[in-house]
Amino acid sequence: MVCMAETDVKKTVLKDVKIFKDLEDEIIKTNLCCSCGACVAYCSSQSFDVIKMEGYTPQFISDANEENCKECGLCYYICPQTNPLLKEITNKYKIKDELGFISDIVAAKTTDKKIREMGQDGGFVSTVLTYLFDKNKIDAAIVSEYDENRKPIPKIIYNKEDILKSAGTRYTISSNLLPLKDFYEVAEKVLEKQKQIFDINQLKMAFIGTPCQCRAVRKMQLLNISPTHTIKYVISLFCMENFDYSKLFELVKAETNETPATITKMNIKKNFYITSKGGDVNEVELKKFDPAVRNHCHECDEFTGRFSDISVGGSGAVQQNSMIIIRTETGEELITSLLNEDYIQKFVPKTMDFPTWKSKKVDLLRRMTTNKINKH
Ligand SMILES: Cc1cc2nc3c(=O)[nH]c(=O)nc-3n(C[C@H](O)[C@H](O)[C@H](O)COP(=O)(O)OP(=O)(O)OC[C@H]3O[C@@H](n4cnc5c(N)ncnc54)[C@H](O)[C@@H]3O)c2cc1C
Ligand code: SF4
Ligand code: SF4
Ligand code: SF4
Repeated sequence: MVCMAETDVKKTVLKDVKIFKDLEDEIIKTNLCCSCGACVAYCSSQSFDVIKMEGYTPQFISDANEENCKECGLCYYICPQTNPLLKEITNKYKIKDELGFISDIVAAKTTDKKIREMGQDGGFVSTVLTYLFDKNKIDAAIVSEYDENRKPIPKIIYNKEDILKSAGTRYTISSNLLPLKDFYEVAEKVLEKQKQIFDINQLKMAFIGTPCQCRAVRKMQLLNISPTHTIKYVISLFCMENFDYSKLFELVKAETNETPATITKMNIKKNFYITSKGGDVNEVELKKFDPAVRNHCHECDEFTGRFSDISVGGSGAVQQNSMIIIRTETGEELITSLLNEDYIQKFVPKTMDFPTWKSKKVDLLRRMTTNKINKH
C-alpha cells in the first residue's frame, strides 16, 4: 500500500519532470531551438515515436501522438539549450570560462593533397577522420554532406572513401544528432556486412559538429544514452553563427546572383566569400547576411566548442591552416599521433614570435568569444 506521504512525494517528483511540451514552450516556440535533432533522435530510437523533425523544427507527429508521450523527460534533459545537466558537464570538462579548458593550442594543415583542395581551412577534420579510419580507431563518423541544392544532410559514414563528400563548411543547419534516430536499424546491417561487428556496443564512432551539438552529445553521454556511449571522439567546429537556409540563399542571390547550383565554396573570414563554379570569388560584407542568422545563435555563448576533445576553426591561423584547441587526453593522443605519422604538418611560428604565439592566440580567441557574446 502507498502511504499518503509517498503519494505526495511522487506527485512532486512527477510535477518537476519537464517533458516535450515544456521543450516546446521554453525552447522551440521561443526560437531557441538549434535544430540539433537530439530530442527526436532519442524519442525515436526508444521506439516511443512521439515526435518528429519537420524541416528544422521538432514537433509531435500528430495530436494523437501527443497522448502517447511517456513523459520520460529525456528529450528536455538532453536538449543543449536547457539548463539541466549543464553544471555536471561543465565540471566534467573542467570548464571555468568562456573558452573552456585548454590543454594546448596549435596550428596545422593536412599533408594530403586532395584534402587540401577540398577542405575548408587546413583540412584538419577530414584528415583526423582519415587517420581514425586508417588505424581502425573508428568504424563510423557522424558528419554533414550536401544534397544537390547545397542543403546539408546529416549522415553517418562507415568508410574512409566517404570522407571527402563531407569536406567544407555548410553555413546552414545540419541536424547532426538526427541520424542517431534510426541508428540501430541502419548500423546493424552495415556493420555486420562490412565490418563483421555483431555487437553494436563494440562500435567506435567520431562526432563532428557545432559547439551546441557537441553539448548535446556530452549531455547524452552523461546519461549513458545509447548509442552515444560509442562516440569516442568529439570534434567541435568553431562557430560564430549559423544561417537559415532559405534566407541565406535569397540574400546570396540578391548580392551575387549566384544560386546553390552555381556555387562551389562558401567561406566566412572578415567577409563572406562565395566562389562560383566559374572560379569567380564574390566578396560580400558579412553584416549583409545578418537577417539570415538563426535566432538561437544570437543567444549563444559558445564560439570554440568547449565540450569537445578537440576544437577546430580557421580564425587565428595563417591561410590554409587550422587553429586547433586540444582539450582532453583523447585529443592530446590524437594530435601526437597525427603529427608523428605525418598526417598533419604543424605551423611553426617565426623565432621572434615563438615565446608569445600561444598566449596571443588564446587572447584572440577569448576576445572573439567575448565579442560574440556581447554582440548579440
Ligand atoms: C555554421 C558554421 C560556422 C562557422 N564559423 C566559424 C567562424 O566564425 N570562425 C572559424 O574559425 N571557424 C568557423 N567555422 C569552422 C570552419 O568553417 C571549418 O569548419 C573548420 O575550420 C574545419 O575546417 P577543416 O578544413 O578542418 O574541415 P574539413 O576537412 O573541410 O571538414 C569539415 C567538416 O565540417 C563538418 N560540417 C560542415 N558543415 C557543418 C555544419 N553545418 N554542421 C555540422 N558539421 C558541419 C563536415 O561534416 C566535415 O566533417 C564554422 C563552421 C560552421 C559549420
Ligand atoms: S516520450 Fe519522452 S522523449 Fe518522447 S516526447 Fe515524450 S518526454 Fe520526450
Ligand atoms: S534537442 Fe535540439 S532539436 Fe530538440 S528542442 Fe533542443 S535544440 Fe531543438
Ligand atoms: S552560433 Fe551557437 S547556437 Fe548557433 S549554430 Fe553555432 S554553436 Fe550552435
